[in-house]
Amino acid sequence: MSEPAIANLYSEQRTFPPPESFAAQANANDPSIYEEAEADPEGWWAQHARQLRWMRDFDTVLEWTPPHAKWFIGGELNVADNCLDRHVDAGYGEQIAFYWEGEPGDTRALSYAELKDEVSRFANALRGLGVGKGDRVAIYLPMIPELPVAMLACARIGAIHSVVFAGFSSQALVDRVDDADARVVITADGAYRKGNVVPLKESTDKAIAATDRIETSIVVRRTGAEVDMQAGRDHWYHELVSGQSTECPAEPMDAEDVLYILYTSGTTGKPKGIVHTTGGYLTHVAATQRLVFDLKADSDVYWCAADIGWVTGHSYIVYGPLACRATSVLYEGAPDYPGKDRWWEIANRYGVTILYTAPTAIRAFMKWGAEYPQEHDLSSIRLLGSVGEPINPEAWMWYHQHIGGGNAPVVDTWWQTETGGIMITPLPGITHAKPGSAMVPFPGVKPVVVDDAGEPVPRGSGGYLTLQRPWPGMMRTLWGDDERYRHTYWSSFGPDVYFAGDGAKLDEDGHIWLLGRVDDVMNVSGHRISTTEVESALVDHPKVAEAAVTGRKDELTGEAIVAFVTLRGAEEGNDELAAELREHVAERIGKLARPANVLFTPDLPKTRSGKIMRRLLKDIAEGRELGDVSTLANADIVEELSKSSAGGD
Ligand code: ATP
Ligand code: MG
Repeated sequence: MSEPAIANLYSEQRTFPPPESFAAQANANDPSIYEEAEADPEGWWAQHARQLRWMRDFDTVLEWTPPHAKWFIGGELNVADNCLDRHVDAGYGEQIAFYWEGEPGDTRALSYAELKDEVSRFANALRGLGVGKGDRVAIYLPMIPELPVAMLACARIGAIHSVVFAGFSSQALVDRVDDADARVVITADGAYRKGNVVPLKESTDKAIAATDRIETSIVVRRTGAEVDMQAGRDHWYHELVSGQSTECPAEPMDAEDVLYILYTSGTTGKPKGIVHTTGGYLTHVAATQRLVFDLKADSDVYWCAADIGWVTGHSYIVYGPLACRATSVLYEGAPDYPGKDRWWEIANRYGVTILYTAPTAIRAFMKWGAEYPQEHDLSSIRLLGSVGEPINPEAWMWYHQHIGGGNAPVVDTWWQTETGGIMITPLPGITHAKPGSAMVPFPGVKPVVVDDAGEPVPRGSGGYLTLQRPWPGMMRTLWGDDERYRHTYWSSFGPDVYFAGDGAKLDEDGHIWLLGRVDDVMNVSGHRISTTEVESALVDHPKVAEAAVTGRKDELTGEAIVAFVTLRGAEEGNDELAAELREHVAERIGKLARPANVLFTPDLPKTRSGKIMRRLLKDIAEGRELGDVSTLANADIVEELSKSSAGGD
């Protein structure tokens, strides 16, 4: 291969070893766990599985008939039993599971005993409505306590939940209800978002009218908004649960029984119905929760500020933390409501020790300015996490400095809805982290960066990220479409090689850097350049908060790079700054990567999970008619961008 699959342009010299005091108390601080896991991956995972409560012990750890894996065969357990009853039985019923914070400022604290009772009552109510093992239940709720309650109630009786992000339209709900053939939907009278009430029940009614599958809807009263309740079909949640018994035996589930279906966030096309099962999934999320987030059940206040509608919320707001008996913060609303310091006020009030969020949020905080976190004492924070997109080194530095007080380790965690749990990440008590790198595989995981021929690339080169050994939290199939499962993930490099769809590189030390989606890689004069590296070079400039780049057709070079740039604070974009940024990229990572055009914009088009939609930017850059923008969180910015780019820079 003459040309590398993806060029390696960015180099980073800074490293951040774990502070000594952190390493001394860390759940993982002995590097020999990597060798231990590598010597016997199945034994390593089995050891984590055995920390759960099994109703029947498993006989075999793994059966691998590519591309299908079965973990902990013969074992029986229940996820709700492990997340709730196990801790109550051990005497921790009084411990707070969730400090919930509503957007309007109302609060609720739920202990493990209260959560268990609430889950049991609702599980009994579901059974009373005829919901049983294997039935699919759609959950379309905002970030209120009833959302984890509903998920755990399903898990308790063996029903399969399919959570649909409450910010999605009724059409998205219809698509997911139809695909999973759900007969029950759980929703609310409304949801709060930036001070407004979103009419969730109305969307649900529209969805129910558009599909003939839903027989029952359950409505949580949240906002008190007037809603239509159809007799016989619609039930108030509070009426259903009142009078129910708090005794509800947990259904013994086979380790391979389905726990949930979750559709991917849809950045690259039609969402896929990812299927996760019981024993392997819970083992994976509990092990990573304990080791990556260094969770101390007795002292930490943990906050994963994602939405439960995404996999991050499933694994690291609900199942991982509860399996590890965490005390968590659960926040309903937007980060800038009523003020741009809402998160920091919450973090301070609850004494948050561990915070997990996404680069898109961090870059928004950079744009707003450091004065907002500075207004609050955040000294309780001891560990920070990032997930969802590559984190640009400068965003990592800002997070480390302004939120972590310069000494909290940052773990950049790479994983996907498909992987179920974290796969590539530093361990905060061991790894000497580099800003912008996800660093190393979690113990027992085997990522390999390969070239076009599927051969491992040498250090210093970029290529395609693959996973070459099964892991317990891996998806088992796509709901109702095993053929698409095989084709999408297991056909690019061989039948036992999982292709993640992302580009990655190995640096000279063998550390892994994610380079964005391979579909977004640009080809400039025959060099394949990743969007991530050019964007990181732009964010490296002190005036830039966020950047997205894409290639547009160019007669001379094949493709030319167009950069869309959002500036920090009160900075103003002009031709001079555009020229300065083009030079900055050329100096930082090479002339080859110098953007042909720089466009300034107050915002970038993002999916509802906060990921930049580069496909759309390409359409704008090439002056194409724009397709459907209804999946965007901020569709209005697209129109503005199309207008400004028509004039060039
Ligand atoms: P779809 O698969 O439908 O296009 P999606 O890939 O956006 O949607 P998710 O499963 O939520 O849905 O996102 C996983 C993707 O997010 C990864 O494949 C990767 O591109 C990106 N990602 C997640 N964490 C990181 C990280 N730490 N560094 C770099 N990229 C990350
Ligand atoms: Mg994906």
